[in-house]
Amino acid sequence: MRLIDTHTHIFSTDFDHDRSQAIERAKDEGVAGMIMPNIDSHSVSALLAVSQEFPNYCFPCMGLHPTSVKEKFEEELSIVENYLSKQKFFAVGEIGIDLYWDKTYFKQQQQVFKHQVRLAKKYGLPVIIHARNSFPEIFEIIDQENDSSLTGVFHSFTGTLEDYRHIESYGGFMVGIGGVVTYKHGGVDKIVKDMDMGRIIVETDAPYLSPVPQRGKRNESANLKHIVAKLAELLQVSPNEVASITTQNAQKLFSLELT
Ligand SMILES: [Zn+2]
Repeated sequence: MRLIDTHTHIFSTDFDHDRSQAIERAKDEGVAGMIMPNIDSHSVSALLAVSQEFPNYCFPCMGLHPTSVKEKFEEELSIVENYLSKQKFFAVGEIGIDLYWDKTYFKQQQQVFKHQVRLAKKYGLPVIIHARNSFPEIFEIIDQENDSSLTGVFHSFTGTLEDYRHIESYGGFMVGIGGVVTYKHGGVDKIVKDMDMGRIIVETDAPYLSPVPQRGKRNESANLKHIVAKLAELLQVSPNEVASITTQNAQKLFSLELT
């Protein structure tokens, strides 16, 4: 089985004491690569250090996370732009709108999100979208910005079937399925069977959102197998089939060449 964890913050301090071991455990479970979305200017040095330590395995992305959009957002945005102009990244992310934690900077979040979607188009990169209590607000912007070149993923998708259909209508977008699919009241398990397998990629969002039976503990990429098993059950196919299709989807979206 060959998998790609399309969303992990393995560069975070939660892994400082055992990052290499966590990567070994992931490899033992068939994880052939990890996509690492950035948070803000404070996380960049760790992100880049990990991508250099594990080349062709930990793939870095560049972006400003919506929960880090505060009064200094213009400065943060120019740091993102500067990095994008200097070196290779695999996506613009993670970006989006989060109205769950704090609505104070909603206007700025909209502005920063739109700006980063345009950066993705400029650099020909996919976007990794974080949507929390904000599907209508995100759709409003993507409805305007979508074109034949724009691609991306709605990560840790927890929307409704109607939200999924809206995403599908864009053409170039996928949904990231993570630990929530294994939760009793997660909701997304009810609509997976209506999804096109060609639009599904898998992710852990480590260190967050551990799937059952690891729920409540720190998450890591080795746990991807629990998400794959649940998807296989819901889609009524084998885990190997889920692995091969989602890996193909991820390779296509992020233009990955795995070793
Ligand atoms: Zn994330």
